[in-house]
Amino acid sequence: MPPLWIDLHTHSTASDGTDSPAELARKAAQCGLRAFALTDHDTIAGLDAAEEAAREHGVQCIRGCELAAAWQGRELHFVGYYVPRNNQELVAALEVSCGGRAQRNQHIVEKLCALGMELTLAEVNALAGDGVVGRPHIAMALYSKGYVASTHEAFDKFLGIKGRAYVPRPLLSPEECIGLLRRAGATVTWAHPFLQAHTERQVFENMLATFVECGLGAIEAYHTTHNAAHIRTCLRLAKRHDLLLTGGSDYHGIRKPGVALGYAGAQVRVPFTLLEAMEARRREQGLWTLDAP
Ligand code: AMP
Ligand code: FE
Ligand code: FE
Ligand code: ZN
Repeated sequence: MPPLWIDLHTHSTASDGTDSPAELARKAAQCGLRAFALTDHDTIAGLDAAEEAAREHGVQCIRGCELAAAWQGRELHFVGYYVPRNNQELVAALEVSCGGRAQRNQHIVEKLCALGMELTLAEVNALAGDGVVGRPHIAMALYSKGYVASTHEAFDKFLGIKGRAYVPRPLLSPEECIGLLRRAGATVTWAHPFLQAHTERQVFENMLATFVECGLGAIEAYHTTHNAAHIRTCLRLAKRHDLLLTGGSDYHGIRKPGVALGYAGAQVRVPFTLLEAMEARRREQGLWTLDAP
């Protein structure tokens, strides 16, 4: 019998994960997954390599991409699935986003220097290699220079929204994010919807209704940070809006040591039936499922 489980949320060295896309595909096959989605932040650069390695190892690879949107001073994340190779609007938007990151990172480094830490943007960028540079790389630089005892402390003290060197980056609105991914032909999920949107129930439900009107197609019901109540809420709201369900680990390799590839929580696994449902919905919508344009 083919494996039953999938993982629709993972990161590689193309953004802030620590496994290369090919390594990730190998591990996904090794831990018995039927399919995994590579969903790096602001980039699709790892997807072709992940797909090629996935074919070699006999696991299905779904092309994904995670984008951040600004909502009332907070950051919401949306993941697109079945992201094509050559959508010009998407490629251009990702470039703009990475440009915004570069400026923000420069600004953060300046703030850290002003706080007495010796750090250069070049040192940070070197840690990211060819990948999209994010705050986790800055956290790692601070840690390796001994300015913090852990990368967690780096976020707490300096890089997180309440940190002393926090700098926001320019972000799209949720409507723009969802629209961009949809126009590229992707199926869009609201990733870890409770992580940043701490808010009362009615506000949360109104947000979701608005996103659905913009073309949201799914909600991430299963995620490493979700408890049973979170999952139940997602299932209830998915039913109300006829949304697909998605789920995954948000694996970042050794960067998030508590997060295991293939698990969306301690004992929580994501069934392949969710991907079958997504494929079926996409076929109904006349969207591709096998070979990316
Ligand atoms: P950026 O994309 O550069 O804004 O950085 C955000 C990334 O940093 C997220 O995708 C997480 O991987 C990571 N991150 C955010 N908050 C924390 C935290 N408190 N501790 C560790 N990593 C974090
Ligand atoms: Fe990340
Ligand atoms: Fe995220
Ligand atoms: Zn993620």
